[in-house]
Amino acid sequence: SEKLIEIKDLKVYFPIQGGIFSRTVENVKAVDGVSFYIKKGETLGLVGESGCGKTTVGRSILMLTPPTSGEVLFEGTDLICCNRADLRKLRQNMQIVFQDPNSSLNPRMLVKDIVAEPLIINGMKKGEELDRKVAQLLETVGLNPTHANRYPHEFSGGQRQRIGIARALALNPKFIVLDEPTSSLDVSVQSQILNKLEELQRDLGLTYLFISHNLIVVKYLSDRVAVMYLGKIVESAKTDDLFAEPMHPYTQALLSAIPVPDPSIKTKRIILEGDVPTPINPPKGCRFHTRCRHRMDICDKVEPEFKDIGGEHFVACHLIDKK
Ligand code: SF4
Repeated sequence: SEKLIEIKDLKVYFPIQGGIFSRTVENVKAVDGVSFYIKKGETLGLVGESGCGKTTVGRSILMLTPPTSGEVLFEGTDLICCNRADLRKLRQNMQIVFQDPNSSLNPRMLVKDIVAEPLIINGMKKGEELDRKVAQLLETVGLNPTHANRYPHEFSGGQRQRIGIARALALNPKFIVLDEPTSSLDVSVQSQILNKLEELQRDLGLTYLFISHNLIVVKYLSDRVAVMYLGKIVESAKTDDLFAEPMHPYTQALLSAIPVPDPSIKTKRIILEGDVPTPINPPKGCRFHTRCRHRMDICDKVEPEFKDIGGEHFVACHLIDKK
């Protein structure tokens, strides 16, 4: 099916001062040449350890963090170089749900005003029609519309995240970035929110970028998964393929760390040696070579290409060329 979102060679660098006495400026290469697409109605899971750049990818697609270079296409239109008026219009189709509803919802605003805000910014007048719309949005996410006159602190964590989702839905978006939407919630509440997100996707035809470090949650919600390491995507595939046959040594290590519910299945945990290197001076060649147990001579010299191995499975590893 059609691509709703396409990212090409996205780079997001943050300049920082070199040392304490240094006047040189260095770049934190948070996202360093990332390309992927998301088809209409699909969920792409974006996984990786904290600091790998996944949240920055999500924010820069929405232009909340300005990209350094690359292309961000929404239905074929590049958001990076389009003018402000066009950007504002296109951005209505793209929303975000943040990780922590406690810090993303203004505690001094009534819930009805939080949900109504995007509508008012886009020209809707206060009045009955707006109230009806807010009530309908609250109902859609499973909240009691008669609670619209309360403040966020009067709700539980899960309910607050529902308020965040209602707000994100206000302008009828086509695409939503879900940035760790359940990781601040209790496990029992997590699945309710995930079910709700799934139901909304089905009913409203939404397309998701689902950012998470939790592979079990990602497996549940995603059609395809992309794995990030140190500012790059190292592997992406259909969810079942990725979990059944991970090809990149980093993906293999990540998956081996998932606890298996059935103790008779013996999977060996792959322990990664060393720390994640700094994104200021990422390792030459394959960025993962400092920690890879399969590394070869070529690995610290030549950067592996992100190769299409068929069936929407892409891998950036020199081992693939040897197969
Ligand atoms: Fe390991 Fe080399 Fe593959 Fe990188 S390219 S993941 S170092 S085998």
